[in-house]
Amino acid sequence: MFPPQCSQNSLISSLSIRALREKVREDPDFLFSYIEEIYKVIEKHEHQLRAYITVRPKEEVLRDAEALLKSNNLGPLAGALIAVKDNISTSGIRTTCASRMLESYIPPYDATVITRIKNAGGIIIGKTNMDEFAMGSTTENSAFYPTLNPWDLERVPGGSSGGSAAAVAACEATAALGSDTGGSIRLPAAYTGTVGLKPTYGLVSRYGLVAYASSLDQIGPIGRYVEDVAIMLEVISGHDPKDSTSLKVAAKDYGSYVVDRPIKTYRIAVIEEMVEEGVDREVMAVFNKTLERLESYGLSVEFRKMPIIRYSLPVYYIIAMAEASSNLARYDGLRYGLAQEVEGRLWTEVYKRVRSMGFGKEVKRRILLGTYVLSEGLYEGYYLKAAKVRRLLYEEFMRLFKEFDLALSPTSPILPPRLGEVIDDPLKLYSLDVNTVPINLAGLPALSVPGGFIRGLPVGIQVFGPHFSEGWLLNVARLIEVAGK
Ligand code: GLN
Repeated sequence: MFPPQCSQNSLISSLSIRALREKVREDPDFLFSYIEEIYKVIEKHEHQLRAYITVRPKEEVLRDAEALLKSNNLGPLAGALIAVKDNISTSGIRTTCASRMLESYIPPYDATVITRIKNAGGIIIGKTNMDEFAMGSTTENSAFYPTLNPWDLERVPGGSSGGSAAAVAACEATAALGSDTGGSIRLPAAYTGTVGLKPTYGLVSRYGLVAYASSLDQIGPIGRYVEDVAIMLEVISGHDPKDSTSLKVAAKDYGSYVVDRPIKTYRIAVIEEMVEEGVDREVMAVFNKTLERLESYGLSVEFRKMPIIRYSLPVYYIIAMAEASSNLARYDGLRYGLAQEVEGRLWTEVYKRVRSMGFGKEVKRRILLGTYVLSEGLYEGYYLKAAKVRRLLYEEFMRLFKEFDLALSPTSPILPPRLGEVIDDPLKLYSLDVNTVPINLAGLPALSVPGGFIRGLPVGIQVFGPHFSEGWLLNVARLIEVAGK
């Protein structure tokens, strides 16, 4: 099911990566009609949705398409128009992180994931809106404007990769890239009825990703179909010497896991704390139905307690803010980004002025809190303690996945909030991430796939597992996708 932005146009706009590739291989000129079609959707709906910060001019994209066809590089992404979150470096294309600080920053280089997309025949269509520096869960923290949810224009699309998810859901792109530090791919995927995957930490290169919290950040794909996400993952994953945290693992054919039957009799766990208090009754109804469908495939589902999971939210926010405060120290108004003429020209004055003007409220809150938890005398009580609990959480997950292959939870405890509903209450806002942040703390892979709809609003199911279980996640996601059709 797609939101009206897609179906009002012809079926062309909702083509899958594979269908598009096959059409382009058969008839290369089809690519030009496809591009025209997607730009028609953008012209018609983008002024309302505002999924993008930068849309590349159509003529430029058509020229790229011409060059692609001439080079005959019709690889796995042949002709796919990829929307990229605006915290991923794109050579020659503005990369703002939705912040005044980087409003006019044009990177001189491509992130590794961008190079790989281009080598696979993909074309970058534009840069998407997000919460400033990826800090948020609704895309309302963008310094420019919020993005709207294509299913209901009064609601948020989730965040922080809300622009990427909205663009894909509304057929303003073939697929997209997001980044996920504590749920920023999965939450918007859940709220927009798309599929979003956060890979195992280290599977996808972070070279060229603007750092938020480096021990948690991962780039991952968002697509309309599970298969598209598998194809994208295959293209962007793999070792990269330019990222010291990138792992040396053999490339996998993720597409081969996207089949309509379980390739293994998975033992599935449900962590009770992830489905207890705070989870909306309607969301739970969709979740329970998903469990039943999986059981009907002969898979087993068992509930388990994991009390430590309750500490995930505070532990995540301490660690994420601490790392953010140190990563964001580089915006000093001297080297790149926002610059200000300051009288007296003392370095501290420039620094103060630029940072006061360049960062939004939430970013400042996090820099202050992050600096606080790292300060002398408090470090042991906050940061160090959080790091220890993180380790215990990791060990609990390792124990769980000795007994189980995978686990399931609702991606978000609630349906997409209305604009303005949670943004002024940081605790309410942070609690949207309750089920997604534990995954990042343990470096595990997870995805969100639509499990059903409630009053026209999509409900996302989170599937997660041990490190490098992406293939299984995609297989189970496909079963959920088929059942939802
Ligand atoms: N909402 C979480 C935060 O604000 C997660 C954001 C993300 O994954 N980038 O930190």
